[in-house]
Formats: sequence, C-alpha cells, structure tokens
Amino acid sequence: MNKLSDSYKLSNGVSVPCIGFGTWKMAEGKEASTAVKEAITMGYRHIDTAAIYKNEASVGRGIFESGIDRNELFVTTKLWNDDHGYDATLKAFEDSMTKLGLSTIDLYLIHWPNPLKFRDNWEERNAESWRAMEDLYRAGKIRAIGVSNFMPHHFEALMKTANIAPMVNQIRLFPGFMWKETITYCQEKHIFIEAYSPLGKGVVLASPIIVEIAKKYGKSPAQICLRWSLQMGFLPLPKSVTTERICENAHVFDFILSDADMAQLTNMENLCGDGKHPDESLF
Ligand code: NDP
Repeated sequence: MNKLSDSYKLSNGVSVPCIGFGTWKMAEGKEASTAVKEAITMGYRHIDTAAIYKNEASVGRGIFESGIDRNELFVTTKLWNDDHGYDATLKAFEDSMTKLGLSTIDLYLIHWPNPLKFRDNWEERNAESWRAMEDLYRAGKIRAIGVSNFMPHHFEALMKTANIAPMVNQIRLFPGFMWKETITYCQEKHIFIEAYSPLGKGVVLASPIIVEIAKKYGKSPAQICLRWSLQMGFLPLPKSVTTERICENAHVFDFILSDADMAQLTNMENLCGDGKHPDESLF
C-alpha cells in the first residue's frame, strides 16, 4: 500500500481503500460533517459509520459537501442490535440509506453477533438478518456484506443457513491486543479483517514501547500503530475530529517497520483492556 486510495480486495472482488475513516463518537451535526468532509479532501476514500453512532445524516452531509464522485468513495454502515430479523433489517437498511442520502452502500455489517435483546435466539436472528442482507446484495443495493465482533462460533452458526459467506469481519485490534483465534479463523476462510480502535482509543499511544519506536522512525505513535496494522494485513479505521491528526493518520506510507519492531508491537502489554465480550455485553 502506497497511498490512501490503494486497496485490498474482498473475496467477491470488490476493492476497499486501505485506511477507513472512523466516525464513532462524532457528534451528529457540524462535528461529524466537517470531519468527514476534511478527511475526504485530504484523500481518505473510505468512511466507516453505523446506525448506532447516530451520525449517518451528518456523515452523508460531509460526503455530499466534499463534492467527491460517489464512485470514488467506499462507505460502510452497520445494522444495530435492535433491528435483527428479516423485516427489521430491510427497514433498518432503508433508514440508514435515507439518512446517508445514498442509493447504494459499499459494505453493510451486522454490528454485533449476540445482542442482549436476542440472547435466547441470536442464531435464528442472525440467520434472518443475513438472509435480508443477501437479498439486498443480490439486488445490487450493497456491494459487500459482512459482520463485526464475530468469533468463530458465531460464524459457524451463521454458515448453517447462509448462502453467501461474510466478506468482512470488523474487530478490535491494536498493538498489544489481538483476537488470535478469530484472526486465524477469518484468514483461513478468506474473510477480510478490518481493525477497529486501531489507535487503542488513543490510550495506547502513551506506551513507552510505541513512543520509543516512533522516535526511531521520526513518526508519531499514531502513525506507528497504523503502520503496524497495515503491515499485519489489516485495514485500520482511525477516528479523529482534529484536523492535524486526520492529516497525520493519512501519512503512513513512507516508512516500513522492521520485523523486530513489528514483533515488539504485537507482543507488547495490552494498555487498553479487552473490550466487551460479544456474548456477555449488556446491549
Ligand atoms: P481509535 O483507536 O481510532 O482512537 C480514537 C481516539 O484517538 C480519539 O480520541 C482521537 O481523538 C484520538 N486520536 C486520533 N488520531 C490521533 C493522533 N494522530 N494522535 C493522538 N490521538 C489521536 O478509536 P475508535 O474506538 O474510535 O475506533 C475507530 C473507529 O472504529 C470508530 O470510529 C468506528 O468507526 C470503528 N469502531 C467499530 C466498532 C465496532 O463494534 N464495529 C467499535 C469501535 C470502533 P480526536 O478525535 O479528539 O482527535
């Protein structure tokens, strides 16, 4: 990868620009629309949002105001936990599209495998949501379909009824934190891995190991995290509402981390916790 618009290829042949612009916690309104517009102006070609972020309308406004040709942009949104099921998924999808102001989406994900609301019948609910997503995919409304926060047992349950295998799994990944079993499973099944919270929510940037490596390469700690993610073959989704940081996070293509530094980053202490277990969350 040499620039933001260089892409990975999914199992169905669709190209995905190699860094996505994360939008979680961006406030609906000017904050989200300005950040998205700025990111696109700086060359980002991939935007990641979700129904639960409650900022799809502003993300859509930012896209529109950037003036970019729709075909040059890769946009992801996600189905939230209240909307699992066939009809509910179709409706949630239409709601997201209306808010975004788009007629097609590049990637649609089941956000969470095992919502609290459906804990007794999550397998059946996921099967029904997936059937709706397959129909939308076949109808050309979605270019790729996938999941987020899925572990191997969630995939095994889904594949009992799925006709199309998920193309993406979006999971929590940063230096010091890996879902090893899930990564191996996805790689074996050609399910592409996107890395959320790739900066460890900003917390891991203070790690002495990362700070030291950053000094050595003349880069920032955030750039080291993103470079690590790319060299691991993941697709990082950094979020920022700060102009200088949005710019900094886009400049990670002019250096290569050595094997020894990669290993140190992979094996460092986890400074940002394990996140919620998909089967035990209270949402
Ligand atoms: P990140 O790891 O991207 O960290 C974001 C934090 O780091 C913010 O506080 C930001 O501050 C700060 N930051 C950004 N760039 C820099 C920099 N260069 N130097 C110092 N600090 C920096 O965390 P997220 O949890 O937001 O994850 C990224 C994206 O992944 C989300 O926005 C969302 O799109 C996706 N995601 C998906 C999930 C899922 O379940 N599928 C769950 C969580 C995230 P500031 O904005 O103030 O500049």
